Amino acid sequence: MKNIDQLRAHGLFDAKVPRYTSYPPANHFENGVGHDKQVDWLSAVSGEEGISVYIHIPFCKRLCWFCACRTQGTKTLRPVDAYVEFLRSEIRAVRAALPKGVSMARLHLGGGTPTILSVKTMSLLLSEVFSAFTKTDDFEFSVEVDPTEASDQLLETLVNFGLNRVSLGVQDFAPVVQDAIGRSQSLEQTHHVIDFLRARGVAAFNLDLLYGLPHQTMESFKETLDHVIAMKPDRLAIYGYAHVPWMSKRQVLIKSDDLPDNEVRFELAMLAQKTLVNQGYDAIGIDHFALPTDKLAIAQNEGCVRRNFQGYTDDQCETLIGFGASAISKFKQGFLQNAVATSAYQDRINQNQMAAHKGYKLTVCDGVISKVVEDLLCRFALDNSALNAEFPEQATFIRAISVMLMQRYSDAFHISKNGLQMNGWAKPLVRIIANSVDTFSSTEVAHSSAI
Ligand code: SF4
Repeated sequence: MKNIDQLRAHGLFDAKVPRYTSYPPANHFENGVGHDKQVDWLSAVSGEEGISVYIHIPFCKRLCWFCACRTQGTKTLRPVDAYVEFLRSEIRAVRAALPKGVSMARLHLGGGTPTILSVKTMSLLLSEVFSAFTKTDDFEFSVEVDPTEASDQLLETLVNFGLNRVSLGVQDFAPVVQDAIGRSQSLEQTHHVIDFLRARGVAAFNLDLLYGLPHQTMESFKETLDHVIAMKPDRLAIYGYAHVPWMSKRQVLIKSDDLPDNEVRFELAMLAQKTLVNQGYDAIGIDHFALPTDKLAIAQNEGCVRRNFQGYTDDQCETLIGFGASAISKFKQGFLQNAVATSAYQDRINQNQMAAHKGYKLTVCDGVISKVVEDLLCRFALDNSALNAEFPEQATFIRAISVMLMQRYSDAFHISKNGLQMNGWAKPLVRIIANSVDTFSSTEVAHSSAI
């Protein structure tokens, strides 16, 4: 059987499965896991630990039609300035609940549009963060920058606070595609931000593209790929567009008839992979690419790429603390998510409550499955030796997972030194395979296409 037929036989072109940026996926977090758990889990973080910090800015000046991010449109900066005051209160409250010695290894500002903040408000926010947390020696500060919004003064401010990695959303440069997704962004705007920051010593850039957008063709996407390669980013993330208008109201503005079908989506994804690998990028997991000198590619060579809410990462921190509306925190005990609506989040902070409103406490079995899912998504492997070393009491369960995978996907795996390894052709199936070990698995319409 040809590989494409094998992929089809395993349901690649029909399946809807989670992206597995966490296990369990966030739609399985439970209500009632809030303030008390947050206080308990924060106080249990080791005082020796370096943590990751994520700050969510849920505002944008324009709302792009394709985007399913948790964000709201605003014409003025008044609600943004007010929100940042709540963030500052939350940072102080969380810091007070953490043991003294905890330091910060990563800081990431995401959204929404973090670069919507004025210079003054950004300075207040970052001063609060840096006075709350001391930095580890290998500290990394990254920001999602919107090239259509960010002023030179704001970029300069970020550099002065130590910005050393930048993430830029591109999606696609073809005008017909940009018109159909409600987001215009010129090549010049994107070049300007990169050149401006490179001239000030920022060396690390991620660019995000989307395949599966309306009117995208192999030719138009190849042109976009050529444009971004010319910008020489260290990393690229090439995600499949998830058309879920029943969840993200703005997407009703995108006509389903203009979208490429799943087989074309697959060809677009393969085009991106082939083009980038030919240009010297290493493929990381299912949708990331990195130059061999980049920390993510180095982590891949060392077998320690991780997966978190931002996708693939070399971040090894056990604890991630999310600040702001809807932000998710990860602890060794489980996950917590802050109140989602900005008003509900602000109400909690006003009432001197921690912001978490739901979450999930991992059982031992969840912990095993979580590692299996991460191993599959990051290394296309099941490392029985490592799992048995970490969960010595769960040897029977680990073996049962391994046997199930070999029986159900015998053509997709071969036996390796430490367990199972996926065959190259089968890698696009990895989210479907991860779904087969997912005990929360459902046919929820919330999930996106497997390709
Ligand atoms: S793509 Fe960026 S600017 Fe557009 S709505 Fe989403 S978060 Fe806002």
